Amino acid sequence: MSTRRNFLQNMGLSALGIYAFNGLNAETVLMPASAAEGPVLRVALMGLGGYASRVADAMQQSKRAKITGLISGTPGKLKSWGEKYGVPENSRYNYETFDAVKNNPDIDAVYVITPNALHHDQVIRCAAAGKHVICEKPMGLNAKQGREMVAACKKAGKQLLVGYRMHFEPLTLEIHRMRTAGELGSVKFFQGLSGFRIGDPTQWRLNKALAGGGSLMDIGIYALNGCRYMVGEEPVWVTAQETKTDFVKFKEGVDETITFQLGFPGGVTASCLSSYNMNNLDRFFLNGEKGFAELQPASSYGPIKGRTHKGPLDIPAGRPQQAVQMDEMAAIILDGKKPVIPVDGEEGLRDLVIIDAIYKAVKTGQKVKLNPGASLRAQN
Ligand code: NDP
Repeated sequence: MSTRRNFLQNMGLSALGIYAFNGLNAETVLMPASAAEGPVLRVALMGLGGYASRVADAMQQSKRAKITGLISGTPGKLKSWGEKYGVPENSRYNYETFDAVKNNPDIDAVYVITPNALHHDQVIRCAAAGKHVICEKPMGLNAKQGREMVAACKKAGKQLLVGYRMHFEPLTLEIHRMRTAGELGSVKFFQGLSGFRIGDPTQWRLNKALAGGGSLMDIGIYALNGCRYMVGEEPVWVTAQETKTDFVKFKEGVDETITFQLGFPGGVTASCLSSYNMNNLDRFFLNGEKGFAELQPASSYGPIKGRTHKGPLDIPAGRPQQAVQMDEMAAIILDGKKPVIPVDGEEGLRDLVIIDAIYKAVKTGQKVKLNPGASLRAQN
């Protein structure tokens, strides 16, 4: 009879931490959590810009997700993308007409990849049209929007997932596994550095109305989200400081650089940096009583590199991150698979609650207390 241990050893895959168990007892033959088999998730991409191009390319290597719809404000893109990906004219929409996806039986889910400020309304409209929604990060502009989005999808009986691609990344999952297994000992400290020097001053990322903020909304969110899954707890306080050197490029409400610190219930602290004005800033470091883990780069499109006190993390990058993400998301939506690190709307909301607190801490100079359970339920 196969046991869980035998199964893992025989498959030789335990280091990748990519299992889901079928919920039966340990003597039952256990199934690998490969999301690569099963029904196909038929996806409409909304917002055919830079990141959607990367997702669409990667989806050509996805085994369980395919592009069956397109939503764009640019007619030329609808035509060229439609031809490139074989999406018929009756499955192409613009931002005025996309509620009609409701009547399209070839679309199961919409992947919203538009500027941050548009996510809230677009996600709610997609849910009302009876479709599951994958929404890019940040899920919304603030916690109030996040709660409304979670509530709307719940009401419609549809799933809301956030495009947190690192939650399926093999080195990230290995460090998560090591920490959970106690191999790092009791965790003491996390450092997350996330940033890049932003170019074109006219882009929507530097427009408060479309971006909702600056570097923190766009890139600092990786350090914030990363510290939560690396530490494995929810923070209970935050302090933060903003530095601005270019007042022309980074207008009022658009942060150039923010340092923020988080405190966790078990006494762990995290120190993070978010910047639109520094390159080579993509590093996670987790320190525990028995060892450490480091990723650098930690959240790029890969390959991710890392090491621990045991040596280099020698795990092949495999397929593009977005191909793996889409297979896993298909398994979550269609098979009810539970990911190792959540990617649901509440996960997106938790980050928005903390982002609100970071901006409040910057403004007031005060330590802002967080109540993780209550903040998910708060009315505003
Ligand atoms: P882009 O500017 O490259 O593309 C955004 C697209 O949204 C545009 O091409 C346009 O597509 C559509 N759009 C609709 N309304 C507007 C508007 N008012 N202004 C500008 N564009 C508009 O942005 P990205 O693709 O880089 O980012 C989109 C989202 O994806 C963001 O939320 C971002 O945070 C997220 N992202 C996530 C990444 C990840 O790794 N998970 C990486 C990069 C971005 P159309 O012409 O088809 O309407």
